[in-house]
This record gives sequence, structure tokens and C-alpha cells, in this order.
Amino acid sequence: MSELVLTDEERARAGERLVALLDRYERELPGAQVLPEPDRDGLAALLADSVPDKGIGVDGLFDRIEDAILPNSTTVAHSRFLAYVLGPPNGVAAYAEAVAATINQNCNFWQLSPAASVVERSVLEWLATIVGFPATAKGILTGGGSLATLQAMATALADRVPGFRETGLQRSAPPLVVYTSVEAHRSVDKAAAILGIGIDHVRHIATDEQYRMDVAALTAAIDADREAGLRPWCVVATCGTVATGAVDPLDAIADLCAAQDLWLHVDGAYGGLFLLCEGLRELMGGVARADSISLDPHKLLFAPLEAGCLLVREGAKLRAAYAFDSSYLTVAEDPLMTDYMDYGPQLSRNFKALKVWSALQAFGVDSFRAATRRTLELAQRLARGIEATAGLTLLAPVTLTAVCFAVDGATRDEQTEVLETLAAENTALLGPVVLNGRHGLRACVTNHRTTTRDIDLVLARLREIAVGRPLTGYR
Ligand SMILES: *Cc1c(COP(=O)(O)O)cnc(C)c1O
Repeated sequence: MSELVLTDEERARAGERLVALLDRYERELPGAQVLPEPDRDGLAALLADSVPDKGIGVDGLFDRIEDAILPNSTTVAHSRFLAYVLGPPNGVAAYAEAVAATINQNCNFWQLSPAASVVERSVLEWLATIVGFPATAKGILTGGGSLATLQAMATALADRVPGFRETGLQRSAPPLVVYTSVEAHRSVDKAAAILGIGIDHVRHIATDEQYRMDVAALTAAIDADREAGLRPWCVVATCGTVATGAVDPLDAIADLCAAQDLWLHVDGAYGGLFLLCEGLRELMGGVARADSISLDPHKLLFAPLEAGCLLVREGAKLRAAYAFDSSYLTVAEDPLMTDYMDYGPQLSRNFKALKVWSALQAFGVDSFRAATRRTLELAQRLARGIEATAGLTLLAPVTLTAVCFAVDGATRDEQTEVLETLAAENTALLGPVVLNGRHGLRACVTNHRTTTRDIDLVLARLREIAVGRPLTGYR
């Protein structure tokens, strides 16, 4: 018997410890510190410990996890974790991940993952329907929104640059230019850098007063680049900018891309899944005209990290960018099952679809619709409360769930101090934001656990802070 398999007794014990851990975690969540002060000495000791030659066993392992890992981990699932765009995992996340690790399907070609291949396809087809993509669409689950955008831009290169797969960008040809807005996520610049486009060839187009891409400025930039002998190639529009949740005018941008023959990618990592809410579909009109879109099930579908998604409207283009023949992988494609190695850069790949599918099965889509709607309502409640408070000012319209505001007259350092105070006293974890050069605070309700009570508690504290400046002395 292998030393690496648990005995019946050990398996039972591991089960007990795991169940106890999950149970305690859930029960203690409401009182947990959102941002625990890391035990630096404990963490340094963890780093200094050499890997043991003799194992510490199941109980030893769980003790170590409970002593060293849990107390030094950020409580992302806390109901007042309102920073960045990060949702707490849904209730079946841990169980689906355990099953995925147990069956360890390799989601590269269907022989190694027949059910997983169909589950991934089913999740992708469901997501494509939400976006409004036609039946030709194909996609792949990715490590996140950043990778989805990178993989989309690589697809756009393969599709729009003749001979790209063979000669890459190593030919003398006019430099390609990609257009996005000043409010776009850094992953667009990162993808341009990785793919050899170069950050100098990313145009960050100005936005209007609502932080949406200015289409007239976009048109002018494209014209100027053509005039200068460059080659406009791709537009990355944003459906839900990371700072304010602004949705670029997708229909107008799609018109322009069609007229100018440019690839249109929509970064929907934050906002795309709000399409689940009927009320927001109009705002996002034009999204289905994109050539590709990235979504992030690990945000609005509350899948545990990592679960991003790329969808390409003409799925054959995705395959054309990534499929390679190889002699050692000889399984013929089956019409029912997809070989995902032909749709992305990875060969070995985990079963991300299981956790997304499991949550949809266990809770149903209506529960996700309700959770999404609730986050929108809570963000509005927070925004109204801020507007009604003397000494606080909203910095941007609240389109989705990001609420950007400032304490009037506070310096950058004082705004940071407010953030630190709120975190230290465990009121909430908010994040910083800079809009038009103005520094402020940002609460983003990407959290299915947040309640009106949480929002009211944060508001009450913000009112005290707004009245009580200078802030020193609050800790
Ligand atoms: C979160 C986010 C990303 C990056 O997604 P990851 O999953 O963190 O890689 C990209 N764009 C926007 C608008 C986002 O909100």
C-alpha cells in the first residue's frame, strides 16, 4: 500500500477535522477580523521551517493549518469585506473543490475528462446565452478575467494578422494599435506587453463625465493612427470599469469597430454577469456584438478562485488560434465532447467548471439573480446614505455596485487613514480610489453575504468620521 494514501481511520479523522473546520469557520465569520493583523513572527517561522522528512500526519496537518494559516488569512467571506471586486465563495464551493481534487480530471482532451468536458461546455453555453451570443460561440474557463483578456487578444492577433501563427510579429509591418479607456483594467496593458504589442501601442482613450469611453475621442485616435501609418487592430471596451462600474457605450463602439474592421473585445470581468438582472440589459446593449468577452465567475457567481471565462462569438476563431496537432495526443474529437487544449494555451488543466456548475445546480439561477440584485440595491443604499451625509461626497455615479466617495477636505493621507481606521476597528474593509486625480474611498458590494445592517453600520461610522475630523484619535 502506498504511503501516500490515508488508511480508513485516517480518512475518517480527516473528514471529521475538515467538517469541524468548515463548521467553525462559518460560525465564527460574523465576529472574525476582516483584515487580521498578520503574526509576522509566526509567518517568519513558517518560512524558516524546513520541509519535514517525517510527516506530521492528518491531525498534525490540521493543527498546523488552524494555528498558522487560518489566523493569518484575510476574511474575504466577511459580510463587510467591501474592497476591490472580490466575492466570498458560495456555500457549496468547498465541497465541489474537494470532489474536483478527488477525481482530478485533466480538462485538456475528452478521454481524460468526458463528463468534465460536457460540464464545461454546458456552463459556457449557459454563459453565452446570458451574454446573448449565437450558437456559433465557443469559450473556455480561465484562471481569471486577466487571462481571459490575454487569451482574447491572442485570438484577435491570430484572426486579424495574416500569418500570425507562423511568423508572429517578427515581420516588418505597420505596428498594431489597441484602444481602451483610461478607466480600463491594467490587464489590458499587461496583455499588450505580454503579446509583444507594446504598452506604447495601447491608446488610453479619455472618458466622459460618467467615466465611459468617449467614442468621438476613440474615433479621432483611430484616424490619427491610420494617418501616421499605424494599424488600428483591436478595441477593448469595458462593461463595468473596475473603479466606478461604468459601462462603455458598447453599441456605438461596436458600430465603429464594424466600420473600421477592428476586433472588439469586451472586458466584462466585473460587470458582464450583471446581465443576469433584466434591468441592466439595456445599459449593456451591444455586448452581444463583441467578437469576444471576458467574464469572471469568481466574482459575481461567487465561485471560489480561480474561475474566469472567455467567450468568442465565432468559436472557430478561438480554435484557429489555439489548436495544434501533436503525435502524442491522438484522440479524435468527439461531437459531444470538446478538447479544451484546442481552445486555450494550457494542456493540463483543472476542472474549474465543476464548482460553477455545482453552485448553479445546488442553488439555481434565481438565487444568483437575487444575490446580484441585492448587491445592486445595497450599493444604492450606501450611495444614498453618503449623499445625505454632510462632509461626504460621491465621486462618481453608482451604475453597478462600486461606490466611490471622499471625505470632504481630507488629504490623500487622511483618506488612507480612514481606510486603515475602518479596517483596524473591524468596521469594514474598503479600498482606495483615484478619479480625475482626486483621492477617495471605494466600497464595492460584490458580496452575497452583505446585508442592510452591514451597510447601515458602515454608514453610521462614516457619519461620525465625517463630523469628527481631524481623524486622529479614532483608533
Ligand atoms: C477583476 C477585473 C479584472 C481582472 O480579473 P482577474 O480575475 O482578477 O484576473 C479585469 N477587468 C475588470 C474590469 C475587473 O474588475
